[in-house]
Amino acid sequence: MSTTDKKEKKGLTIEKTLNKLSAEKKVSPLLYVLLIVMFCVSSALVGRVARSTGMLTFAGKATPIASFAGVLSSLSNICVILLVVFFKKKGFITSMVLLIPQFPLVIYRLVSEKSYSSVSGLFTNFFTVVALILLYANSKKAENYQTKLKEQAVTDRLTELPNRYACNELVKTLVEKNERFALCSIDLNNFKSINDTMGHDTGNKLLKGIADRWKTAADSGLSGTNDFIARQGGDEFILLICDYNTADDLMNTVRFYVDMLEKKLTVAECDFFITASFGYAEFPNDADNIDALFSHADAAMYEVKRTNSSNHIRKFTPDLMQNVEHTLETERKIRTALENNTIYFNLQPQYDISHKLRGFEALARMKDSEGNNISPGEFIPVAEKVGLIDKVDASVFRNSANFFGQLIRKTGTDITLSVNVSVRHMMKNDFLEEIEDIIRTSGVPANQLEIEITESIMIDSAEKALKCINSIKSMGLKIAIDDFGTGYSSLSYLNKFPADLLKVDKSFIDKMNSSDSSKQYVAAIISIGHIMDFDVISEGVEEDAQLDTLRSIGCDFIQGYIWGRPLSPEAAEELVMNSVMQ
Ligand code: C2E
Ligand code: MG
Ligand code: MG
Repeated sequence: MSTTDKKEKKGLTIEKTLNKLSAEKKVSPLLYVLLIVMFCVSSALVGRVARSTGMLTFAGKATPIASFAGVLSSLSNICVILLVVFFKKKGFITSMVLLIPQFPLVIYRLVSEKSYSSVSGLFTNFFTVVALILLYANSKKAENYQTKLKEQAVTDRLTELPNRYACNELVKTLVEKNERFALCSIDLNNFKSINDTMGHDTGNKLLKGIADRWKTAADSGLSGTNDFIARQGGDEFILLICDYNTADDLMNTVRFYVDMLEKKLTVAECDFFITASFGYAEFPNDADNIDALFSHADAAMYEVKRTNSSNHIRKFTPDLMQNVEHTLETERKIRTALENNTIYFNLQPQYDISHKLRGFEALARMKDSEGNNISPGEFIPVAEKVGLIDKVDASVFRNSANFFGQLIRKTGTDITLSVNVSVRHMMKNDFLEEIEDIIRTSGVPANQLEIEITESIMIDSAEKALKCINSIKSMGLKIAIDDFGTGYSSLSYLNKFPADLLKVDKSFIDKMNSSDSSKQYVAAIISIGHIMDFDVISEGVEEDAQLDTLRSIGCDFIQGYIWGRPLSPEAAEELVMNSVMQ
C-alpha cells in the first residue's frame, strides 16, 4: 500500500471514529420493511372487513366481523407513526407515499359508488397525515437538538477541536486495531501567567488561535504523516501521529507543530510568543496499553518542563518513570506535611558588611512521616509543579511571622524577617488580605517584613505583579528581588519595580573570584542596584576571599554560611538575644 493510500485509510479511521461518536444508533432495515408490509396488509383488509356481514365468535360471543375494521385501521395508523418515529425523514416520506394515494381512491368511491361510509375513512386519513406532519416537524427539532448535543460531546467548545473524549476513543480504536502510532502530550509554557496578567478572555483567544494553527497544520498534511490534534482541557493538547516510517519522521512531525508556534500571535493588540512543551511515546514500543501511553507521554512532557529544555521536545525513555514516581511520592509527602502542619522553617541570618545583624530569611523545611529531612531543593520544585507552593509559602510566612512577633515583643529588636513568595501565591486574589491578617495576628510591624520574589515574576506576570507589589509597598513592607541575575529581566523592568533589595544569586558569588569578568559582573550588578536606589545583598557567601571582594566592590549585605547557616527558631532567638545585648 502506498503512503498516500495508507494516509487516506487512516484519515478514514479518524473520520470514522468521530462520525461514529456523533452518530445515531441505526434501526434495523427489517423493521422498515415489516412496518410497510403490515401497513399495506391492514389497509387492504379494512375495506373488506368493513363490508363483511359475517360473524365471528370472540370470547364466547358472536361478534360481527365488520367491527374489526377499526382495529385494522388503527394498526395501519400505528405502522405509519412508527415509520416516522424510527426512520425519521425516510419514514415520513414513506408514510406520505403510502397515505396520500388513498385520498383519490376514497373520493372516487364516495362519488361513484355513493359509499358514504368512506367519509369517515377520508377524515381519518386526513387527520393521520396532519398528525404525521406535526410528529415529524417535532421530531426533526428534537433530532437537530440531539445532533448538536452529540457534536458538543466530542468537540471542545472553545477551540472547536475534538475533545478529550473523542481523543480517548480514537486512541482506543487505534490500540484495538494494533496500529503503530505516537501520542504526544503538549502543554503550553507559562500560560497561567498570561491568564493571570492579561485576563481569561485574552487567554481564551490565544488558545483558540493556537488550536486553529495546529488544526490547519494537521489538515494540511504538510507534516508528511497523518496527524490528529485534540484539546485535553486547559492549556493541554494531544497530538496523535500515524503513518510514519522512521523515528526521524516522527520527530520531524513533532518539530513541525513546535515550529507552528514560532510566529507571533496577536490578541488584544498585544503580541504573544507562545512556546509549549512536547513529550511523546509510541504505541506499542513505549507502552502497550492506553493508560501507560498517556502517562509515558506526560512523563516526557514534564521532563521538558523540568529541564526547561530549549528544544521543547522529549521522547519517552523508561528512566523518566523514575522521575515521575519520585515526583508523585514527594507530592504525597508535601500533602501529608501540609495536612499535619509539619512544614516548618529555618531562619538564615543576614548581616551588613560590618557583621551587624540585618535580619533573617525564613526557609521552608519538611520532614517525611519517618522523620527524614527532605531538602527544599527537592520539594520546592515539586510543590511549584503540582500547585502546592502557595500553601507551603503561606504556612512558612504565617508561622515564621508568629515566631518573629514574639521575638520582637521579647527583645524589642528592629531587624527584618524576609519570606519567599512564589508567583502563584502572590497572584492569588486574597494575597493582600493574607498579609494584613498575618501582620495583625503576629504583631510584626510592616516595616520589619520583607517579601522576596524571584526575578521571573517581573517577566511572566509584569502588570498584575507590579500592581500587587505597589500595594505591598504601600502597606509598608519591603520588597527583595531574589536570585538576581539568573533570569533575563531588562533594566527597564527593573527600573519600574519599587524594590528595596537586590539579592545577587549564589552562582555569581561562586565564580566571582575565579575570573575577573565574573567579579566585574557582580560589581556591575551592585552599581546598577545602587543607581536604582536598591540595597544589594550577596547570597551564598562561604569564603573570606569572597567577603573581601564584596566589601571592596561596595556590597551592602551578606547572607551565607560564612556568617550563618539556616538556624532553628530557638538558635535564631539566641542569636538575636546576643546581638541585642552587645
Ligand atoms: P533562596 O531563597 O535563594 O534561599 C537561599 C538558599 O541558599 C537557601 O537554600 C539557603 O540555605 C542557601 N544558602 C544560603 N547561604 C548558603 C551558602 O553559603 N552556601 C550554600 N551552599 N547554600 C547557601 P534552601 O533553604 O535549600 O532553599 C532553596 C530555595 O528554596 C530558596 O532559595 C528558595 O528559592 C526556595 N524556598 C525556600 N523556602 C521557601 C518558601 O517558603 N517559599 C518559596 N516559595 N520558596 C522557598
Ligand atoms: Mg530567597
Ligand atoms: Mg536566592
